Amino acid sequence: MKYTLLHLTGRDPSHLIDLPEFKNCRLTSDCASSFRKMHEDAQNDGLNIIPVSSFRNFERQLDIWNDKYLGDRPVYDNFNRPVNVNTLTGVETVYAILYWSALPGFSRHHWGTDIDIAASNLMPENYELKLNSEEYSPNGIFAPLTEWLDKNMQKYGFFRPFVDEAHVRVGTELWHISYRPDAEKFEKLITKDAIASIIRDSNIAGKACLINMVDELYDDYIIHG
Ligand SMILES: [Zn+2]
Repeated sequence: MKYTLLHLTGRDPSHLIDLPEFKNCRLTSDCASSFRKMHEDAQNDGLNIIPVSSFRNFERQLDIWNDKYLGDRPVYDNFNRPVNVNTLTGVETVYAILYWSALPGFSRHHWGTDIDIAASNLMPENYELKLNSEEYSPNGIFAPLTEWLDKNMQKYGFFRPFVDEAHVRVGTELWHISYRPDAEKFEKLITKDAIASIIRDSNIAGKACLINMVDELYDDYIIHG
């Protein structure tokens, strides 16, 4: 399968298949087979892995971005403290959002190779999932899942793309896994021209500021959950 810029940026999901046994789960077919196998093996080890979020389209990511930029949706810093974007410059706002969210068109969730996961058997009834570091840390409710993934996920082609122990540029997301064989194909399609054209042609909040940040976005911040 040859992927194009439309696949990369979440504007053409025709390369994806639905996994009806899970809620809202759309993946590339190779990622789907691998995920199913991993799910089955984890189940034999007593873990019921569930996808919480997989494919996300461009419009959805644009809504998230614009809400955050305009202060209509909370933005958190590296200690999960809320940030008041109204007190920040445009550039500062962009960096604050990018700590936990991707630029629309450049989320790994556009590809069908990346999944946020939890384990349903580790969740108390009516538990409200937060997807934060605490839940997935050695003392958190998903510690057995984190441990199982550390030991096993690479056998199925999965890795964690957002692990920044220095907590400098992007948040560490222990719940976000990526299917490397397909994700690599998408990573190669990301260019400065692609970033510039998405910013120019979309209805993105902060456009005037973003258009001057293409080099930095490409180098440091572009790919995120
Ligand atoms: Zn994610």
